[in-house]
Amino acid sequence: MRGVLYALLAAAVFMCGVRGVRASEAKEGALRGVIGAALPSVGQYAEETGNTGARPSGKKMPLVCIDPGHQRHSMQDTEPNGPGSSVMKQKLTSGTDGVVSGKAEYEVNLEISLLLKAELEKRGYEVLMTRESDDVTLSNAERAAMANKAGADVFLRIHCNSSADSSVHGVLCYKPGKANPYLSQEVIRQSETLAGLLLLHQTAMTGQAKIGLLDGDDMTGINWAEMPVVIVETGYMSNPDEDLFLADRKGQSLIAEGLANGVDAYFAS
Ligand SMILES: [Zn+2]
Repeated sequence: MRGVLYALLAAAVFMCGVRGVRASEAKEGALRGVIGAALPSVGQYAEETGNTGARPSGKKMPLVCIDPGHQRHSMQDTEPNGPGSSVMKQKLTSGTDGVVSGKAEYEVNLEISLLLKAELEKRGYEVLMTRESDDVTLSNAERAAMANKAGADVFLRIHCNSSADSSVHGVLCYKPGKANPYLSQEVIRQSETLAGLLLLHQTAMTGQAKIGLLDGDDMTGINWAEMPVVIVETGYMSNPDEDLFLADRKGQSLIAEGLANGVDAYFAS
């Protein structure tokens, strides 16, 4: 089983072109106990702790910035991989496509993100979307800058995955690694907590396989963020069953509800 997990991770790492990544399995184990526990609501949390999530702007509820990955057209120009970095990366790649559904990743990412926005707003959060249309021109660094400028409390980047092996399926999250030079140790630690909770709660709600957490230190949108940041790879569009699940509104709703539970758990922790 462990061999299979590593094979899956190796495939995922290969596809994503990330070097030096490692799954945080220990964290996953530590978080497992959260499932089944009654999760306090944000309101209960505020009442019990006196922490209303107040920010300098005077707004009381946490502000969640959601970034639906990609857009209709990729951007070929390059931008620095992080603040002060001499490494230049493509501003925005094109993403993947559903092997059966034929849907583009940018469409599915936006559909899931809009459902997540609605679910979070229903629970009292403030939500900022980096885009609500597929026809935008926003690089990864510009998306992070939007979250920074708004003073978002967390930055959730929603994506779908792809593998050359159509049997690969499940959920994984990218977060900054422990030695990420652009983010503070506190933000790195909070990002890992957030990533673990999002993974845990999405998979608990959907029944999808839990692959693990990976370091995404070469990802521009992570490196430019100034708050806890996670990329949720919500499933594989290269797997026929998971592609149909991701493309279907019922599947998307379950994913959104699970991720909202993860956000609740994060702000309650
Ligand atoms: Zn993507």
